[in-house]
Amino acid sequence: MTIASNLGFPRLGHRRELKFALERFWSGETDAAGLDDAARALRSRHWKLQAGHGIGHVPSGDFSLYDQVLDTACMLGAVPPGYGWREGPVSLASYFALARGSRGTSAEQAVGIAPGLPALEMTKWFDTNYHYLVPRLSADDRFVLTENRPLQQFREALALSVRTRPVLLGPVSLLMLSKTTDGSDPLDLLGRVLPLYAEVLSGLAAANASWMQIDEPVLALDLPAKARAAFALAYDTLRRGPAPDILLASYFGPLGDNLATAAALPVAGLHVDLVRGAAELDAVLEAVPAERWLSLGVVDGRNIWRSDLRAALGVLRKVASARGNRRLMVAPSCSLLHVPVDLRQETGLRLETGLRLETGLRQDGALRQDGGLGAEAKDWLAFAEQKLDEVAALGRGLDEGDAAIAAQLEASDAAVRSRRTSVAVHRDAVRARLAAVTPRMEQRDSPYATRRTAQQARLLLPRFPTTTIGSFPQTAEVRRARASLGRGELTQQAYDGLIEGWIDDAVRWQEAIGLDVLVHGEFERNDMVKYFAEQLDGFGFTRHGWVQSYGSRCVAPPIIWGDVARPRPMTVRWSGYAQSRTQRPMKGMLTGPVTLLQWSFVRDDVPRETVCRQIALAVRDEVTDLEAAGIGVVQVDEPAFREGLPLRRAAWADYLGWAVACFRLATSGVRDDTSIHTHMCYSEFNDIIAAIAEMDADAISIETTRSRMELLDAFAPRGAGETSYPAEIGPGVWDIHSPRVPDVAEMTELLGLARERLDDWQIWVNPDCGLKTRSWQEVRPALENLVAAARALRGGRILS
Ligand code: GLN
Ligand code: ZN
Repeated sequence: MTIASNLGFPRLGHRRELKFALERFWSGETDAAGLDDAARALRSRHWKLQAGHGIGHVPSGDFSLYDQVLDTACMLGAVPPGYGWREGPVSLASYFALARGSRGTSAEQAVGIAPGLPALEMTKWFDTNYHYLVPRLSADDRFVLTENRPLQQFREALALSVRTRPVLLGPVSLLMLSKTTDGSDPLDLLGRVLPLYAEVLSGLAAANASWMQIDEPVLALDLPAKARAAFALAYDTLRRGPAPDILLASYFGPLGDNLATAAALPVAGLHVDLVRGAAELDAVLEAVPAERWLSLGVVDGRNIWRSDLRAALGVLRKVASARGNRRLMVAPSCSLLHVPVDLRQETGLRLETGLRLETGLRQDGALRQDGGLGAEAKDWLAFAEQKLDEVAALGRGLDEGDAAIAAQLEASDAAVRSRRTSVAVHRDAVRARLAAVTPRMEQRDSPYATRRTAQQARLLLPRFPTTTIGSFPQTAEVRRARASLGRGELTQQAYDGLIEGWIDDAVRWQEAIGLDVLVHGEFERNDMVKYFAEQLDGFGFTRHGWVQSYGSRCVAPPIIWGDVARPRPMTVRWSGYAQSRTQRPMKGMLTGPVTLLQWSFVRDDVPRETVCRQIALAVRDEVTDLEAAGIGVVQVDEPAFREGLPLRRAAWADYLGWAVACFRLATSGVRDDTSIHTHMCYSEFNDIIAAIAEMDADAISIETTRSRMELLDAFAPRGAGETSYPAEIGPGVWDIHSPRVPDVAEMTELLGLARERLDDWQIWVNPDCGLKTRSWQEVRPALENLVAAARALRGGRILS
């Protein structure tokens, strides 16, 4: 019989209960017992619920108070010195100090943790929006098993009469996702962690766990030969001792050139991602020996679309006939951690176009009479619980035939049909416009050198011009006003009046301190993606569609469900107003097409590139409208540009090709004398610097303070034959993530380091990123210092 199985379930709860329990614990409102109660209640509910959905292999150990990588590190005693751990289970105080830094609480002091310790580095979990904590190891680490976590949770579930399949992050992935403090290769520590893994496995075997799932997601990456050898060694070692049957799980992509390695490992079964790896099914069937179990990840664990059950069943039947229908599991492609919990909570889900829901900012002209599109579109979606139903139905369908799941198949067919034929999804005008895009539209009129002359003549900026990245503090007052508007306590008119007042103040103050290119402050924006998504056709929103980003932090990404178009200007009202209040250049602020795509759930019925190009056309209209409204500098933010890079290097060129083209399509509709800026706030440019140059922006601002300008090396390679970045650069001189106010000398020094790498004419002076999370008490002195630092560099006020 086919086993319906799951790889992982969202942890936070239907109403983000874990988030609130954690926050209560951190604030001292509840104690450890209170937190533990909340966590147990969630685990219990989730185990029972999954079994109730017909899942045979329910995972345990996938739950975490913060992050599963941190859990695994703590289980192995991989706790750097200073964090208060000596032996035995890692205390909550140590655990959260590792996750969030220490803050001098009495619980921390009790275990000897000094205040002010930094958190472990956090980084993206593969290409998801989940972030994990990077274990900090060193060559002389000695590991010990502090507790058998999978065993504990297995027992906890068993006591509730659910026999689960414990999940554990595998040794090779754990080490490859870690960093060492001494530059040694974490993989060299394999021999020291394997005995502990063996101990965990033998404990589970003794407790009669029949299966366990070991996640090795690095199998979806380009692996060096050393890592492949590590796989062979690791699983050969683990096979020798007592252990449950091991299901080795790979996900987030095809196995590709790691297929032979994975297929050869002496494990009981292999899970493969057949959503992203659909094309390698034949190769998998050929490579994986018949005696292995095969777990077929045919339900998309990364996106919120309902499965086409008939198509998925076709894949399963193909596998079954090739393998005699034996030893098969059906599963989501990966853990369901990356999708919201339950679609049934979305009673208010509305995917109508042009409606600004969450904030309640209804634009009357935008109200559409699509008559029930919301309900129809809801049939197209599946969140975690719905995906479990799909998995269970597919298992039954495979074993018992179509008739056994006739109702599910019919509903799936109907959804497929309605989505495919919906006139709101497929809009002829959008398609026609996309088809009419010419290469010329992705090209500015003149090369950068010519544009620079035109822009200088128009903008009359001094050398080392100063600016900011866009947002000013989102104060309590600003957020309160938005909330009041949402509740209907404030009229639109009154709200608009407040925004105007804040813009007036911001403009006057920027003039007074002498900034050169001003911003309006983005007071009207809740979020840099949502603000635009709410105004674009083809985007929709959920009310409870939360997905864990890290720890207690959640995001509710918009859903791009249909062809994207811009019914009317989105930012011209406020940027135009701000420009009308000053003679100085006012910078228009937009979120770029790649970032809008990257931070949303994207429709899966057309290529991502197509969706991105549709968004690019919408942004293009906004850019040209801003220009027509007299805005001479338009900044198109692309903070997600790099994170869109595919996991495999071989796929990079394709992504970078269309991502760059989309940015250019969005920004090339303007005259030579309009300056296009972009902004990206991260540090690794080396891999993509050529693409960054090809974006052909007139200026780029980046985050460089923490690296002390080192990452500018990517922009100004000193190697022979390499070209430097050809346009202007604003290397950030104020780390806005920290509450410290930098003084003039610090910023001058950083600018000096920038001048060693760049030509003076290239340099802009600005903070690392937007200032929305800072307070005016910090912003005022810091920006005054920033202007002073730029002036010091100019040596007076020399106009170029
Ligand atoms: N313009 C945005 C701001 O200033 C940019 C935010 C970002 O880079 N993430 O807030
Ligand atoms: Zn930024």
